[in-house]
Amino acid sequence: MKITSIKGFADIFPGEVESWQLVEAKARQVFHAYNFAEIRIPILEKTELFSRSIGETSDIVEKEMYTFEDRDSRAGETVESTKLTLRPEGTAGVVRAYVEAEMYKVEPVRKLYYMGPMFRRERPQKGRMRQFHQIGAEALGRGDPFVDAEILLLLHDFFSAVGLTEPSLQINSLGCSECRPQYRQKLLAFLQHHEQSLCGNCQRRIDRNPLRALDCKEAGCIETTKDAPSIVDSLCAQCREHFATVQRLLSATEVRFALNPRMVRGLDYYCRTTFEWTTGLLGSQSAVAAGGRYDALVEQLGGPAIPGVGFAMGVERLTMLLRLQESAAANGPSLFIVWLGDKARDWAFPAMHRLRRAGVSVEMEGEARSMKSQMRRADKLKAVSVLIVGENELTQGTAALRDMASKQQRGVNLKNIEAELVVRKAN
Ligand code: ATP
Ligand code: MG
Repeated sequence: MKITSIKGFADIFPGEVESWQLVEAKARQVFHAYNFAEIRIPILEKTELFSRSIGETSDIVEKEMYTFEDRDSRAGETVESTKLTLRPEGTAGVVRAYVEAEMYKVEPVRKLYYMGPMFRRERPQKGRMRQFHQIGAEALGRGDPFVDAEILLLLHDFFSAVGLTEPSLQINSLGCSECRPQYRQKLLAFLQHHEQSLCGNCQRRIDRNPLRALDCKEAGCIETTKDAPSIVDSLCAQCREHFATVQRLLSATEVRFALNPRMVRGLDYYCRTTFEWTTGLLGSQSAVAAGGRYDALVEQLGGPAIPGVGFAMGVERLTMLLRLQESAAANGPSLFIVWLGDKARDWAFPAMHRLRRAGVSVEMEGEARSMKSQMRRADKLKAVSVLIVGENELTQGTAALRDMASKQQRGVNLKNIEAELVVRKAN
């Protein structure tokens, strides 16, 4: 019997792996420019590392981790057993390594990046795997807003280095240990008031972690929390100032962003600046990269009070976007002229020349062929549109312009063909 791979775990074959290599190579270049050094951390960690950092009430810790008991046996005798987990994300491991090796003793400011597989037992679908890959970075030791802006600029530079025009950026501030508790109370009161319209999962955990409801993907919860109090109204003066500086720094660059006060992220360690880069091209799996500040995490994992900020991007979603863009760019000529009869050909040839001079890419057959065979040729060339010209069209002065993707046709004026097509192209 054939042995198959596990659901949600994929092979990456030649033909596909090249875009992974491109993404990795460009990421390394950009990381180098921003002075980030690579760190390679284990795939397996003690379960406690993730439950303590990501949060007991997060989806990841509640239901998505691959955890097992590992028995350490000596001479056939079980000595101790430890719960181990396949890493669902990279930040916890990087911070654990930073604390364990006391990297801060030599120099607290460390900019680190990693690449590799992560594991979450989620429902597999397009853009959502059980083994997926992240490229991520952590800037430890700096609490200033300049490093938040730097991380966002790094991502922006990376997207343009790989040639992605998508995705777009949303930012938010989650406040700090000073101002978040107040917001938490306000939100909790609101949610308790609307408890009946929340999903079971959110109802169950609002007391422990009301912010989770804002991240819930259930339609009912999205609708209910639309009018929930906004975190940005509860920020303390320092958090407000920090967030304003991040925005001011970004506004001075070409990076466009939108504020999204509902974005709380699915991991509990975030505070202050959080962000998500999303695309409209991947359906509901719209997040390509995400991250934020985590000023309490190093201390929470046993180190000194050292702030941090970081992000992770999903390589599967990135390479999917790149493929989508490539296939859009792989279009053939803008126009293929199908001509029927000598008169039509004698009109088409100089028309094609005029259009080409105006910058429109055009193709036509030289020898007489049936309409069907010319259409097939247009299809093969991946022409964006086809103009069908016969003697009737010439006498009437109009012909049908067919959009090959939508199969929609519209009449165009042949005497004015350049204006018609050049304007269309400019649109
Ligand atoms: P989503 O909202 O799509 O579930 P997330 O908030 O869980 O994303 P993070 O934990 O912040 O995502 O991970 C960062 C990035 O890793 C995401 O933006 C996405 O590109 C990618 N990613 C997360 N989970 C998966 C998965 N199961 N399969 C593929 N890529 C993933
Ligand atoms: Mg998720």
